Amino acid sequence: MKKARGIFLKNEKEIGLMREAGRIVSLILDEIGQAVKPGVPTMLFEDIARRMCDQFKVRPAFLGYLGFPFAICCSVNEVIVHGFPSSERIVKEGDIVSIDMGVVAGGFHGDSARTFAVGKISQSAQRLMDVTSESLDRGIAQAVSGRNLYEISAAVQECVESAGFGVVRRFVGHGIGVKLHEKPEIPNFVPKGLSGVTLKPGMVLAIEPMVTEGSFDVEVLEDRWTAVTKDRKLAAHFEHTVAVTTDGPMILTLSG
Ligand code: MG
Ligand code: MG
Repeated sequence: MKKARGIFLKNEKEIGLMREAGRIVSLILDEIGQAVKPGVPTMLFEDIARRMCDQFKVRPAFLGYLGFPFAICCSVNEVIVHGFPSSERIVKEGDIVSIDMGVVAGGFHGDSARTFAVGKISQSAQRLMDVTSESLDRGIAQAVSGRNLYEISAAVQECVESAGFGVVRRFVGHGIGVKLHEKPEIPNFVPKGLSGVTLKPGMVLAIEPMVTEGSFDVEVLEDRWTAVTKDRKLAAHFEHTVAVTTDGPMILTLSG
């Protein structure tokens, strides 16, 4: 595979394989979204993900990755990312649940996340979700050949901060392909004193704003995975795997 500044460039065939991996991830998230209701345990979402991976004969990418013990990350309310599903944790009306899911299919990864509402949620929780999703769209719109990587970061940051929310610094988006995490890192803020790479066709990027209602400070719990907001206010997370192409940004994690 060709490289530009250490970043693997995928050809059309490889992007096709990644699109299939991404499609499966999206179908799994669709099904989990249907199952998000008051009164269900978060382990139900893990069960759905594992069953669908079996059906599609793909491997869940997170299971065993750096020792992560589940197929999905399930992050409720103040949990930002990397939460564990549990048969004891029952979601209730008003919660928000972020599900992050990745698969490997045909040797390539797809990675996507969505935050779901449990029943009727507060206006402020809805606004947090809407702004996070909107910031992802704004970021994706900058995934254009010839632009600088940090134009993605700037678009996300400006959308989030102008709405009065915080952008998490501790975790960032990433290149993706044969490996789950490849170069480059994709911060959701413009890093001071660094210059981003110029985007080229064939780069495939997992863009994933993690947005907080209050401060963006993170605390990692004793399980060494679960990342929560330090002030325990809500967080939302949306992610797509996106290819930079000669025809503009192509979202690979879609169900259609
Ligand atoms: Mg992800
Ligand atoms: Mg990711």
